[in-house]
Amino acid sequence: MRLAIVGNGVAGVTTARYVAERDPEAQITIYSRESYPYYPRPRLIDFIEGEVSLEAMPQYDAGWYSDRHIETRLSSEVVALDPADHTLTLASGEKVGYDVLVLATGASSFIPPIPGAAKAGVGALRTLDDAVQLCHAAEACREVVILGGGLLGLDSAVSLTHYDVQITVIEALPRLLPRQLDREGAALLQSMLEARGLTIVTGAQCAQVLGSDRVEGVLLADGSEIDACLLLISAGVRPNIALAQGAGLACNRGILVDARMMTSVPGIYAVGDCAEYDGHVWGIIPAALAQARVAGAQITGGTDVLYTDIVPSTTLKVSGVDLTSLGEVNPEGAGFTEYRYLDAARGIYKKAVLREGHLTGAILLGDRRDLQAVHRLVAQGTDVTEIAEMMLTPEFDLPAWVRSQA
Ligand SMILES: Cc1cc2nc3c(=O)[nH]c(=O)nc-3n(C[C@H](O)[C@H](O)[C@H](O)COP(=O)(O)OP(=O)(O)OC[C@H]3O[C@@H](n4cnc5c(N)ncnc54)[C@H](O)[C@@H]3O)c2cc1C
Repeated sequence: MRLAIVGNGVAGVTTARYVAERDPEAQITIYSRESYPYYPRPRLIDFIEGEVSLEAMPQYDAGWYSDRHIETRLSSEVVALDPADHTLTLASGEKVGYDVLVLATGASSFIPPIPGAAKAGVGALRTLDDAVQLCHAAEACREVVILGGGLLGLDSAVSLTHYDVQITVIEALPRLLPRQLDREGAALLQSMLEARGLTIVTGAQCAQVLGSDRVEGVLLADGSEIDACLLLISAGVRPNIALAQGAGLACNRGILVDARMMTSVPGIYAVGDCAEYDGHVWGIIPAALAQARVAGAQITGGTDVLYTDIVPSTTLKVSGVDLTSLGEVNPEGAGFTEYRYLDAARGIYKKAVLREGHLTGAILLGDRRDLQAVHRLVAQGTDVTEIAEMMLTPEFDLPAWVRSQA
């Protein structure tokens, strides 16, 4: 079987790994637009901080690929797909055939249409090339503005504190991490980040990027200006669906897939940040891993292996700030009960969201002790009614209670 995988991110490489494990005879070729072998994107933050060198970024050495008969064609963008002919066209004009195809094209940074956003010194962080550019720019700069107070914006902001720069984070919504935190948690996190030297402006819209050819600052909608010689835009991502759309595959926000990870065209699968299942494009690694496992099984005959949607869980990687948010933390509508525990002096905030006695979401800020237990409770849908009032308090041993339920 000739398996072609478009995209060299975690979803593509993990699919290749599963297929190679289950079918050692498979001929697997991964086509990658980027020029580097696979590296995990979270490691970009370590790279910016100077913790990991460029050479140490790739996850696997050449032997890992050859042992599994996986060929990676770097700097090889796929520009067209012909499902009827089972061929891909590369940017070089070369046409290649396949028997089974996996689209793992991921997502790209979204740059909002702000006047002046095309100026030099304006960038986003998605790839290793972006990170290399960002490091060079930060070395030659004093004031950095980061547009977007989401996970990536905050991770990037703290990583840039390793440079001699003043950093301002601008968030359009009234609080940081609007998807992962509630008002109380966001206020505590903001004070923790401000204590580390970040300036955070919430509820502010960037109206214009100032400067002639290069960015010199940003103009906010309220008329105020902030100096900047580097503007990092962290305004979310958009799934890369152009290749699939061009070939007539059904797409919405992402490439539509069923529980087999199969697209609307039999024999073509989609996984990771480019795939949309049941209305969700999660854009996080746990979803990419779960989907790659399903696609890998399906491709090698495991037709009973189906995808069930994950409970989204995200972690802020800022050192000294432990934050995990999982499931539904800002429920809308009736039927939810919320429990909170706050110890502002020790930087601890915890929240549990219950629906009919079952934990459906949680925030753990400043305290990782209960992380695994909470994960299990959310995933297993255990009834926690009897401990609801005390489960977040420091006196209660939640891990022990979870073990006692097994
Ligand atoms: C700095 C950073 C930190 C992050 N930290 C976390 C974290 O801690 N936890 C978490 O869950 N998620 C994190 N994420 C998000 C996570 O990295 C993504 O969810 C994950 O990378 C998705 O994997 P993917 O393989 O679907 O797509 P991608 O990683 O986007 O890989 C897709 C690849 O396909 C290539 N490609 C696209 N189109 C073509 C084409 N036509 N031809 C050839 N190649 C093509 C792209 O160039 C890219 O290399 C982070 C992201 C960033 C940028």
